[in-house]
Amino acid sequence: MNLKKLTIVGGGITGLSAAFFAQRAIPDAQITVLESGECWGGVLQTESADGYLIERSADMFTTDPESAIRICEDLGKTDELLQTIPIDDRAYVATDETIHPVPRGLSLMLPSDLDSILASPLLSEAAKERFLAEEQIPASDWSHDESLFSFATRRFGREVYETLIQPLVGGIYTADPAKLSMQATMARFVAMEKQHGSLIQAGRIAKGKAIQREASGARYGMFRAPQQGIGELIRWIMESLPKVDFQNNSNVKTVAKTKSSWQITTIDSRSGQSQQIETDGLILTTSAKISGRLLQLVDGELAKDLGKIEAASSAVVILGIDREQLGQDFSGYGIIVPSILNRDVIATSFGSNKFEGRAPDGKVLIRCFIGGALRRELVDLDDEKLIAIATEELQRTVGFHGKPDLTRVIRWRNCMPQYHLGHRELVDGIEELIVNHQGLELAGNSYRGVGIPACIESGARAVERLTAE
Ligand SMILES: Cc1cc2nc3c(=O)[nH]c(=O)nc-3n(C[C@H](O)[C@H](O)[C@H](O)COP(=O)(O)OP(=O)(O)OC[C@H]3O[C@@H](n4cnc5c(N)ncnc54)[C@H](O)[C@@H]3O)c2cc1C
Repeated sequence: MNLKKLTIVGGGITGLSAAFFAQRAIPDAQITVLESGECWGGVLQTESADGYLIERSADMFTTDPESAIRICEDLGKTDELLQTIPIDDRAYVATDETIHPVPRGLSLMLPSDLDSILASPLLSEAAKERFLAEEQIPASDWSHDESLFSFATRRFGREVYETLIQPLVGGIYTADPAKLSMQATMARFVAMEKQHGSLIQAGRIAKGKAIQREASGARYGMFRAPQQGIGELIRWIMESLPKVDFQNNSNVKTVAKTKSSWQITTIDSRSGQSQQIETDGLILTTSAKISGRLLQLVDGELAKDLGKIEAASSAVVILGIDREQLGQDFSGYGIIVPSILNRDVIATSFGSNKFEGRAPDGKVLIRCFIGGALRRELVDLDDEKLIAIATEELQRTVGFHGKPDLTRVIRWRNCMPQYHLGHRELVDGIEELIVNHQGLELAGNSYRGVGIPACIESGARAVERLTAE
């Protein structure tokens, strides 16, 4: 296919990465990125205020998978990336009375140090016994998908699930664990069960390999963030693309297919003026629901399948406080709250304990996550109420007292895709339908991963498929 014009809809990390890879693959093409909002970066937004560096959504990315770190390497920016502060590099779990660290030897569901788990005051003796019995639990044949709830309780028992696994995973996907697809979100644990029959056994093998890697000098600390915040990643990518036409305030209203091209209508969000764009290639990086609506008249079946991918909403309450306002010194990265405790906060993240330069000296930057698939009604509470929920949670967990000196409330509506049971098959089917539409691709966090690296990868894959056509 002769791609003279490529149009990318959505100026989040997926759309901008797609532009980055397209610029390299088809340097002579005219590339346009259309973004309905004023700002670039989608949910990735950093703000500086009163000496705080405030991340409104993501505050870091993992180096595994490698796509995010690789794009930083390509941009020559790895020197400007921070590693996490290693002082107390772990999360804590809230109980009714207090907080305790997540045992060192548990990485989501991979136990690599049984002693640390067996020593944890978070679990009863019966729960520890049930946990050890995991090696005797037969593996599933994986002829069908399984929910996180079903998988984790089957392998580790209910208490380990409720106390550790649900809050650890819940904080990432803000999902209903009874619906969350293991195959779509935790494929590596599915593979471990298939290969080793037990996750404890898989942990033993992983630990052996880690010791070998450590001996060979490999570095740990998988998370990175730009010194000046995640918004830098957006700026770096955009600055590397001087030939790309970036149009913000361009709300794509309709998409139509002609014999040999695509026709897009946009409305300028400020002036209300409409614009027609004709393009050979089109990559939609909007959420599956929005992409489904845009493709309604192009392919009803595709639109219907896209509409099945739900998204959850959450609120982030950001507080800047004096370290002296904490009743106890806390240097961990955050505190996760098991949903069995019936509290309103899903997790709190201490940004200034994770990365340097996030708060002025003597101050602490904290973000509280509220809402998610199980408590979506909380997102509609007014700012004051949400701030009160966040401060009460901090009073309970770290003895916070007084008033914060900085507050922000951000609501992310329908921004966290929910990979429900059968998600993988649904996306396979969507990709089969897309093949019928030459020049059209879908990318973004609705399909094969929600993290920043997965979004970058999906932008790269969309360009690859398009240029291979
Ligand atoms: C609170 C929160 C915390 C997170 N924390 C992390 C983290 O720490 N690490 C991590 O790796 N990931 C994290 N994630 C996930 C990750 O940030 C997102 O999955 C990713 O940034 C999504 O990028 P995207 O480009 O696919 O979508 P988006 O960022 O949603 O971008 C889509 C863009 O499309 C635009 N758009 C929509 N409709 C139209 C239209 N009709 N016309 C034109 N443009 C349109 C939107 O305005 C938006 O800018 C977090 C997400 C949230 C919400």
